[in-house]
Amino acid sequence: MTTETPALIDRIGQHMINAMTFDLGRYLIAAGAISLLLWLASKWTEARRIQNRKASFEDYKREFLSSMRTVVIFALTTISTVLFVESGWVTILEGDINWAVFSVQVIAMIVAHDAYFYWMHRGLHHKSLFRMAHLHHHKSRTPTPWAAYSFATFEAASEAAFVPAYLLLVSAISAPVYGFAIFIFLAHMILRNVIGHAGVEIFPAGWTKGIFGWITTTTHHDLHHSQGSSNFGLYFTWWDRMMGTEHPQYQERFDAVAQPIRISVSAAANASIAAFSILIVINAVTIA
Ligand SMILES: [Zn+2]
Ligand SMILES: [Zn+2]
Repeated sequence: MTTETPALIDRIGQHMINAMTFDLGRYLIAAGAISLLLWLASKWTEARRIQNRKASFEDYKREFLSSMRTVVIFALTTISTVLFVESGWVTILEGDINWAVFSVQVIAMIVAHDAYFYWMHRGLHHKSLFRMAHLHHHKSRTPTPWAAYSFATFEAASEAAFVPAYLLLVSAISAPVYGFAIFIFLAHMILRNVIGHAGVEIFPAGWTKGIFGWITTTTHHDLHHSQGSSNFGLYFTWWDRMMGTEHPQYQERFDAVAQPIRISVSAAANASIAAFSILIVINAVTIA
C-alpha cells in the first residue's frame, strides 16, 4: 500500500457518496412527485388507470427495496465514469455552453440510449438470461412509478453501462459532451422511466395517431409488463415498429384508456399544490 492509497480510497468514498445521493435523489424526487400528483388528482387518475388489478403493498415494497440496490450499482458505475475522467479517457466539457451544440448532444444521447435500451432489453428477454437478469423487473405485472429502478443486479449493471460506454466512445472520437447535457439526459431518463411505470395513461387521447405518436406512452410500457413479449422500446416506438415487436393492439389499448385534455378547477388547484410541494422538496434537497 503506497502513501497515495488512503487518499485514493478517500476520494472514491466521496465520489460514491455523491453518486448515491444523486441517484437516490433523482429516483425519490421523480417517483415521489408523480405518485403525489396522481394521488392528489385521484379522480383524474382513476379515469385513466390502465389495468383493473392494483399493485399490492408487497409490490411497492419489492420495487422500492430493489431500487435501493440499483442506486448502489448505479453509483458504482458513476465512479467508473469519474475514474475514466480522472485518467483522461473521458472528457467532459465545462464552461460556456453553445446551446445549439448542447441540443444536438442531448438528442444524440437520447436516441443512442433508446437504441441501446431496445437491444439490451431484447437480450435480457432471451431464455438464457431472463430468469437471472430480468424476471425481477417483470414481477411488477402492474407497475408503479417506484418500479423505475426495480432491477436484478445484472440488469442494473447493464442499464448503467450505457453512460460510461457512450462517454468513452464520444471522447475517443473527439466529440465530448457538456456535463450539463449529461445531467439533462439523466433527468429525462428518470422522468420517462417513472411515466412508463405510472400505471395511469397520462398522455391525451389521440396521441398515438398525432405528430408525436412515435413518443412512447405509459400504455406502451404497461403492456410490456402485463403481457411481456412486445413493446421492448423505451422512449420511441421506432425500434419496435422496425423489428415487428410492437403489441398488435397497442393503439386500441391506448384509445381505450386515454382521455381528452380536460382540466377541472379542483384538479388544477391540486396540481398547483403538488407542484409547489415538489419545488419545496427540490429546494430543500439542493440546499442540503
Ligand atoms: Zn422486459
Ligand atoms: Zn418496466
